[in-house]
Amino acid sequence: MAKHEHVRVAVIGSGFGGLGAAVRLRREGITDFVVLERADSVGGTWRDNSYPGCACDVPSHLYSFSFAPNPDWPRTFSGQRHIRAYLEHVTDTFGIRPHLRLNHEVLRMEWDADALRWEIETSSGSFSAEVVVSATGPLSDPKIPDIPGLSDFPGKVFHSARWDHDYALTGKRVAMIGTGASAIQIVPAIQPQVRRLTLFQRTPPWVMPRMDRNITGAERRLHRALPFTATLRRGLLWGIRELQVGAFTKHPGELGLVEKLARANIARAVKDPALRARLTPSYRIGCKRILLSNTYYPAVAQPNVDVVASGLREVRGSILVGADGTETEVDAIVFGTGFHVTDMPIAERVFGADGLSLADAWKDGMESLRGATAAGFPNWMTIIGPNTGLGNSSMILMIESQLNYMADYLRQLTVLGGRAALAARPSAVGAWNRKVQARMERTVWKSGGCESWYLDANGRNTTLWPGTTGEFRRETRQVDLSEYEVIRAPAPAAASRPSRTKKEAAK
Ligand code: NAP
Repeated sequence: MAKHEHVRVAVIGSGFGGLGAAVRLRREGITDFVVLERADSVGGTWRDNSYPGCACDVPSHLYSFSFAPNPDWPRTFSGQRHIRAYLEHVTDTFGIRPHLRLNHEVLRMEWDADALRWEIETSSGSFSAEVVVSATGPLSDPKIPDIPGLSDFPGKVFHSARWDHDYALTGKRVAMIGTGASAIQIVPAIQPQVRRLTLFQRTPPWVMPRMDRNITGAERRLHRALPFTATLRRGLLWGIRELQVGAFTKHPGELGLVEKLARANIARAVKDPALRARLTPSYRIGCKRILLSNTYYPAVAQPNVDVVASGLREVRGSILVGADGTETEVDAIVFGTGFHVTDMPIAERVFGADGLSLADAWKDGMESLRGATAAGFPNWMTIIGPNTGLGNSSMILMIESQLNYMADYLRQLTVLGGRAALAARPSAVGAWNRKVQARMERTVWKSGGCESWYLDANGRNTTLWPGTTGEFRRETRQVDLSEYEVIRAPAPAAASRPSRTKKEAAK
């Protein structure tokens, strides 16, 4: 017989968001929960992205949980291996393993308005939960563009987030498609080993130097002996980034100075003026994510690298045709073309109070209340939901704010005495989004003259938070009950009526 488990909370995903939620639940005294994970280990994006050169461009002392400081970070900007090991360590330290349900891909979640709970179907059995905390992450499902002829390409094809380590690139002619944060780390890592590297650059990124170094043994000993020194270090890293936010959100003109430094970074490594021109962006720095690397431009300037200053238009056998008509024969194609961010794939699998999917509810753009809950989806919340992303600081700060909100949400449900659910009022969702979008107008992401994955198909920025992390922390400290409708379980006599009627009665 198929197995079924009922829990108070089902967390989906075991990256930073899901593990953070799990730890917070335990700290709130809630042990009746599971973490549903589609893969066979924890780590989220830091498990999936193992491409050569993969590292984080936020310093590790800030890109880690405040409740799980690591005095032993080896470098100021740690690599994927160390971050993944950190998440495994967090899983063990906080007793999360018994809650993990690995190889459990969520296929469908449906709100049961009679029982006031979510019915969850996974690839390995079914669950029901009073509350769902969806932490599937915005950077989890790779996006490969629909290129004519790609399926007939005779060579090797893979995405940066699904690196095939069994395929040797040594001596091969390789095409790298895209020049985002992933690609600029991959290029210098593979350039020395490949025969030819052709970089398809649709839009050049702004790349700044990366102040990366080993963290010395003395520093680590200090952080271990006197933990407040690590806290201080984190505080300093946070404070610097908070001070930068205004330039992105209110005064993009101030970013001109940063642009000068970025131009100097190109000039230092690239002596050929034609190549320099091709690599220099024409939009305001910060409009797309500012990338950090000391090795990208030197690698691009090597004789075995060609920069095609256009996107990939077509594949004809083993020939790649650029949008500018250039033709290049290659043995392998690596797509560094990003992820399904504004069309979050999990949304197609969530069915709310009216039977509508979250994808349908969000067909004109993602909208949530305080980055967490959505109208029509009672007791369902996201970690890293709409407009909670950052352009210049650590996402872990935002995740921890959302965990405060989650914890208060569950407290409120406890106060309501069980058999109750909270449904975000459409008016509250609307008000929150109008406020966020009004603040978006002045930001560099809107006015900087670029297109980016921050914007959805309608040109709306539904991904980033247009303020400081401190502001978001204040906005999510507590649940404002006036923004929610309390739904009570229907009286037993009414329990046989169709659920739509009951929901309408609850409104
Ligand atoms: P991305 O930033 O979305 O970059 C995708 C790249 O692919 C862009 O250069 C894009 O060009 C290009 N592209 C898309 N379709 C194309 C086509 N048909 N032909 C040619 N080029 C095409 O993806 P990503 O680099 O994987 O990074 C995603 C996010 O992950 C980052 O912004 C960051 O938040 C995170 N990340 C962080 C790190 C880090 O911490 N160091 C590393 C990797 C990723 P256009 O610019 O013209 O659209």
